Amino acid sequence: MAYPSRVAQVRLKNLTKQFDGVTAVEDINLDIADREFMILLGPSGCGKSTLLRMIAGLEDPTEGEVWIGDVMVNDVLPKQRDVAMVFQSYALYPHKTVQENIEFPLKVRKVPKPERAAAALDAATSLGLAEYMARKPGALSGGQRQRVALARAIVRKPAVFCMDEPLSNLDAKLRGETRAELIALHQRLASTFVYVTHDQIEAMTMGTRIAVMSRGHLEQVGTPQEVYDKPASVFVAQFVGMPPMNILPAGSLEPGDHLVGVRPEHLHITAEGPLTMMVQLVEKLGHETLVTGVVGSKRVVVRQESDEAHPVAGDLVRLSAPEATRHRFDATTEQRIDR
Ligand code: ATP
Repeated sequence: MAYPSRVAQVRLKNLTKQFDGVTAVEDINLDIADREFMILLGPSGCGKSTLLRMIAGLEDPTEGEVWIGDVMVNDVLPKQRDVAMVFQSYALYPHKTVQENIEFPLKVRKVPKPERAAAALDAATSLGLAEYMARKPGALSGGQRQRVALARAIVRKPAVFCMDEPLSNLDAKLRGETRAELIALHQRLASTFVYVTHDQIEAMTMGTRIAVMSRGHLEQVGTPQEVYDKPASVFVAQFVGMPPMNILPAGSLEPGDHLVGVRPEHLHITAEGPLTMMVQLVEKLGHETLVTGVVGSKRVVVRQESDEAHPVAGDLVRLSAPEATRHRFDATTEQRIDR
């Protein structure tokens, strides 16, 4: 599919949004490069949908500016923004066929019928939907409906795709398959994707960069590997990575009044380890085993290879963590110390 080569850099400058005195997004600055797959990641209520909706023009900023390419778009209507939005709820018209749904944005723009039909067929074919063109959405599976919503966005040939948790209504297997399709779609369309999710697997696997949000703020922006390897705060350390990073009490693993974070795969059960853990639960998952227990009053998880010797619930074991695998955070601000 040939796309016009427009520069679709998205720039957010000091962006703030308040709803009736509640600050949903506060003073966010973010540059999203042309053709980037930027993930807005964070827990429910952190403001990620509000940020996305301000890019698409569905919410007006209380303060700050949204730029797309060289244009400040604060006063540009959503339909004139060169942005297509894909929602979690699909938002398809139930009484229209797949073909009519996909064509709809072009019909609104008064594109002639043969051209519309060709564009719809092109988008539908690229998403494996060509054989369903005459069906209504009610006769499609959830995954097929989501692909119709994607096809409807694609026909507009937008410079920027804004996607709000588009996979969250799909089952785990279909989510995995659709993730792969979205990565391929991003490469094929060579457009800028801004994608909202609270699912760190989606963020890690699809994003060229991740913007981690908490309570209306940006906690960290970086490649998935940067965010995983050098989390900027305790919040990021515990939000990205499953099971989350263990945060050990100050002074327990090494001297000092800072917090020490260790990922479950970097904690080892060894006879001479400096930490003592009371084992509470041993979960054998086939490819790995998770050992959960308490160190002092802190819950700690150790990830073991499935062929290692495992303790059993009730055991007292010693733990160690190699120096190079430790993450250090200020005990008061919870920000990373060794940036
Ligand atoms: P979720 O993943 O649950 O959708 P989110 O991170 O996308 O969450 P937002 O939907 O952006 O979060 O909401 C951020 C905050 O703004 C929340 O406290 C929410 O209650 C509030 N909020 C969002 N939309 C409105 C609105 N139209 N009116 C009032 N408050 C709102």
